[in-house]
Amino acid sequence: MYCDMALYDNHGRLINYVRLAVTDRCNLRCFYCMPEEGIDYVPRQELMTFEEMEHLMRILSEMGIEKIRITGGEPFLRKGLMSFLYQLSKIERLQQINITSNGILTAPYLPELKKMGIQSMNLSLDTLDKDRFYKITRRNDLDKVLETLEQLLKYGFKTKINTVVMNGKNIEDIIPLIELTKEKPISVRFIEEMPFNGSGQHYQKLEWNYKKILSYIQKHFPAITKKEDPLFSTSANYAIKGHKGDFGIIAAYSRTFCGTCNRLRLTPLGLLKTCLYDKGIFNVKNMLRVGANNEQLKIAFYSALGNRAKNGFEAEKQRGLDFPISESMSSIGG
Ligand code: SAM
Ligand code: SF4
Repeated sequence: MYCDMALYDNHGRLINYVRLAVTDRCNLRCFYCMPEEGIDYVPRQELMTFEEMEHLMRILSEMGIEKIRITGGEPFLRKGLMSFLYQLSKIERLQQINITSNGILTAPYLPELKKMGIQSMNLSLDTLDKDRFYKITRRNDLDKVLETLEQLLKYGFKTKINTVVMNGKNIEDIIPLIELTKEKPISVRFIEEMPFNGSGQHYQKLEWNYKKILSYIQKHFPAITKKEDPLFSTSANYAIKGHKGDFGIIAAYSRTFCGTCNRLRLTPLGLLKTCLYDKGIFNVKNMLRVGANNEQLKIAFYSALGNRAKNGFEAEKQRGLDFPISESMSSIGG
């Protein structure tokens, strides 16, 4: 674990991926992620600055991190994002920078992102229907998201659509979303809804788990075949004969993939999470602001990874009083 270029946790899992949430602000209000109003945004001075983030990404890349996903809130709302991405693109040991976006402000930036060498984007899209889009996101912006999808394909980005599957909200969209993959080289990934909506109120039982989603799809497309999943994939992936794209299912609530989890998370506040379900291990930004040097930061990262929960269930148990979970996914990054 202490070698220069490979980072392992106490369960022997390789850690080479960071999800960095650059803001907790958003221009949508997806009900499974954020309340409609009364949101406690992180005060600006408490947000990590881009300089701090770049510094941390350099340190983490020296420790073995090879891949970063920029997320949020909505990353394109944060001023200065493009210059930050440009700085990140110069970190030699980082092999991949990817972005997750809701697609509202994204399209005009695509040519510049391409020039920086950013090649893939995850676009969140839960429905193809205007009314349902409004009910889910509380905004009327479906056209902008669809335009971003077209532009992503035009510029040749490797494009994944993230769809949260919600009982009574977008089940009728599952098949039309898969149908998009017939002519378009996109991967649609259906995600189990997780309890991070910022309200602390949750369903008693997850209605649409990964098994139910798969069997629903199989009824419509009996000839689907299982694909070999890439290393560290959180999705189980499937192909449909004759389709240019494919689809996957992410058991985000059932947590079937913890055994190969290779990721860390940094929240906009600077909290390090070694599991999506933990409540934050320590605040990296606070350490930086009281003058911690690189060695001290590295020791803190190693120590967090040396005590990492075995899986999301264990991490959730360790939350103690913060149960049911009151966090919003916009302050974690997904
Ligand atoms: N705003 C950007 C977006 O929506 O793509 C990036 C941040 S968003 C928090 C990242 C991902 O988390 C999105 O794909 C979103 O659908 C997913 N997400 C948010 N809340 C979720 C929840 N309660 N359960 C499952 N996925 C969720
Ligand atoms: Fe905003 Fe993304 Fe959360 Fe929707 S899922 S409210 S777009 S951060």
